[in-house]
Amino acid sequence: MRRMIAGNWKMNMLADGAAQLAGALRRGAAGKGGVGLSCELLVCPPATVLAAVAHALLGSACRVGAQDCHAEASGAHTGDLSAPMLRDAGATHVILGHSERRANHGETDAVVQAKVHAATRAGLVPIVCVGETLAEREGGWAESVVAGQLAGSLPHGFEGLVAYEPVWAIGSGRTPTEADIAAMHAAIRHRVGPSIRILYGGSVKPENAAAILALPEVGGALVGGASLDAQSFLAIAAACPA
Ligand code: PEP
Repeated sequence: MRRMIAGNWKMNMLADGAAQLAGALRRGAAGKGGVGLSCELLVCPPATVLAAVAHALLGSACRVGAQDCHAEASGAHTGDLSAPMLRDAGATHVILGHSERRANHGETDAVVQAKVHAATRAGLVPIVCVGETLAEREGGWAESVVAGQLAGSLPHGFEGLVAYEPVWAIGSGRTPTEADIAAMHAAIRHRVGPSIRILYGGSVKPENAAAILALPEVGGALVGGASLDAQSFLAIAAACPA
């Protein structure tokens, strides 16, 4: 399965910075032996610049996703964005159930599942995030927590990607051991079946990307901080095994 390197820009980038980053990614992905040849590239900018980034990357090897969507297609939901709106702005994918949304917006597994349905109906590919907190890992419950999130967040017949992101590894510079990443990916594979790509996310950088991306069942990476720098993001993509 071709790996995917997805960048989550989170609540970063004004118009100028986004245009510069998109331009650098476009040039980098098109280089000789371009990284787009060995992996898929995706960036998920904030919604304010999504259409501009999608326009800047049109026809390139890098696609554009959103960071969240509402479960309804339209209606009285002030400040929210629907999946058809994001598709209309140029998104092909949408991150759902990121731990920051689960924590900051109280998103439950049921809410995430409703958003998965909405994304799929709109033709967006959902990337569903799961992952345990540090207390859950230290308590020995990491696999059961993730199993519960998968059972609650993924509808029957789910088509999309899963991102395993230990909450304590996000933005912390800490990563699980390679053995722990491999064990969790194997456990997720067991639950989601053979055709779902499983990304790893949490402090992926150019320095650790090759080792993580070579692990069994790791189908790519969801990258936060390092995706804000084109050189770092492209170096992570270049670390994908052919
Ligand atoms: C993320 O927020 O999805 C993420 C993986 O962040 P970082 O790479 O900065 O840990």
